[in-house]
Amino acid sequence: MKKTLEKIPDRTVALSFDDGCLSDLTVAAPMLREMGFGGTFYVSDAFYRFSGGQAANYVSWDQARELEEMGFEIGNHGGGHRDCSKLTREELIEEVEYVEAKCREHGISQPVTFAYPGYAHGPEIVAVLKEKGYRFARRGPWPECSGEDRRGPAYDPRVHEPLLVPTTGGPGPGWEMKDILWLVEQARDGKIAVLNYHGAPDVEHPWVNTDPEAFRDQMRYLKQAGCMVISMRDLGRFVDAGKWPDA
Ligand SMILES: [Zn+2]
Repeated sequence: MKKTLEKIPDRTVALSFDDGCLSDLTVAAPMLREMGFGGTFYVSDAFYRFSGGQAANYVSWDQARELEEMGFEIGNHGGGHRDCSKLTREELIEEVEYVEAKCREHGISQPVTFAYPGYAHGPEIVAVLKEKGYRFARRGPWPECSGEDRRGPAYDPRVHEPLLVPTTGGPGPGWEMKDILWLVEQARDGKIAVLNYHGAPDVEHPWVNTDPEAFRDQMRYLKQAGCMVISMRDLGRFVDAGKWPDA
């Protein structure tokens, strides 16, 4: 039976968090619950296992399950957070399947969306995700973004492929309320604003850090503005992920 797709309301925002910072559980998730928002937490195993970071700064797999139990989506961010534009097909499969295996081991649903680590992608990883049945994947704000302002295009399902959903806004230092106002303005006429935080805070990566108070103010603004804030998986309510714009 064909699923009926909903019309995309103006002010629809797809919200995601990369890298599995502990603040996903301690700051972001409680705030999202309070606001009635959905969201996707993209988890990897790279930061403390492979990069010398402190485990205490990131969610464990059991804590990722807690996030799922709170109603949020756990997405795949690659087991080793490696540059997916440079790996062989075998290595790409390994990256994707590592997180799938961890989810299985820890009672987390199998991921159906992916976020390219470091915003790096290429045709091979897109092909791998397609074969494995992933519904949506999020790329960075580039090449459209000028670099400094962390502003990319809104996701337009008539133009962008479901496995190359652009990041519209990538908050970090210097991202302020005016940027959130701008982002919400992009979410209109069938386009969805895709908002991608790292941690609030992200203590080991200051260049993508968001201050918890600033984060809370930004979420409050989305609420006041009447935004519908959803997970990446929930894009499937509006978009047929099996149908590519050029197909
Ligand atoms: Zn990342």
